[in-house]
Amino acid sequence: MIIMKSNATPQQVEAVIAQIKAMGLAVHLSQGVEATIIGAIGETHNIPVDRFEGLDGVDIVQRITQPYKLASRQFHSEDSVIPIDGFTVGGNDIIVIAGPCSVESRSQILETAHAVREAGANALRGGVFKPRTSPYAFQGLGEEGLEYLAEAREETGMPIVVEIMSETQLDLMLKYVDVFQVGARNMQNFNLLRALGETRKSILLKRGLSATIEELLMSAEYLLAGGNKQIMLCERGIRTFETTTRNTTDINAIPVLKNLTHLPVILDPSHATGHADYVAAIARAAIAAGADGLIIEVHPDPAHAVSDGKQSLKPEKFVEMVNQVKAIAEVMGRRVAPIQKPVTAGW
Ligand code: PEP
Ligand code: MN
Repeated sequence: MIIMKSNATPQQVEAVIAQIKAMGLAVHLSQGVEATIIGAIGETHNIPVDRFEGLDGVDIVQRITQPYKLASRQFHSEDSVIPIDGFTVGGNDIIVIAGPCSVESRSQILETAHAVREAGANALRGGVFKPRTSPYAFQGLGEEGLEYLAEAREETGMPIVVEIMSETQLDLMLKYVDVFQVGARNMQNFNLLRALGETRKSILLKRGLSATIEELLMSAEYLLAGGNKQIMLCERGIRTFETTTRNTTDINAIPVLKNLTHLPVILDPSHATGHADYVAAIARAAIAAGADGLIIEVHPDPAHAVSDGKQSLKPEKFVEMVNQVKAIAEVMGRRVAPIQKPVTAGW
């Protein structure tokens, strides 16, 4: 919608109309006493608004449709329900992904996997390529970690959620991973997003540290534009002036995203708060706000974790949290996705 200045000349109005037609769009002209408004109708999502903002006589250019066409609810009103091995995300069921920040050893991941599965987790998380602020900090076990995760999946029946940091890791990870996590620091790694959009693997796309909701949806659009429909969004806290917590949970983002997009929305209260003491409270709030799931860091011995120990729950605290989340889910007319696959082996 292009609103002309009140003193715009008929020639300026004609020039805007000619530009709209030259772009293959239809024109809707509304000439009032106060203002002239010109509608550009058609496939406008790939036309930048500044193509019109610079024209003589133009006052305001307002987009009526969202620039993220595939992610938007405007053209896809139904919720997307994504099947993952053993459960679905985005329907009535709430899913719980749990596990350590990093895979540290075979025994650590197997012990954690069995503990979270027993507590009711649907999927196992664990990083093997870690985005660390310091290049001297633990960077992850790489393929060795993927082997341990695959073993944990075999034993517990849980699909595995693993962060990918670069397209160069894609071929290796495709052999192991069920759900690719795109971390906050890579939300706008557009080459990575394009490569993942070409795959048909499920993606958990985390919001960037300082990314707006619209930027998150534009990143989801990259994945969807490649034809990958298996996309989940994850709010994980944003940077604010507050320093008592690692990040600030943007609870608003949950109902806002649910309104703007058909994609499932989950919350990561571990990174959003940075403190084990606050994780359960924010997990409960997320479900009350309408989230479709949670991703939680759990470690058998948080004090000795190589990364994010401070925010990791001990297995017994995780059990408590899951029980609270189940109660909130019931109030919301939902349920935590039941575990269908039996545990196939002991450890
Ligand atoms: C993580 O999940 O361990 C992680 C690094 O998360 P984020 O990208 O949200 O910081
Ligand atoms: Mn972490």
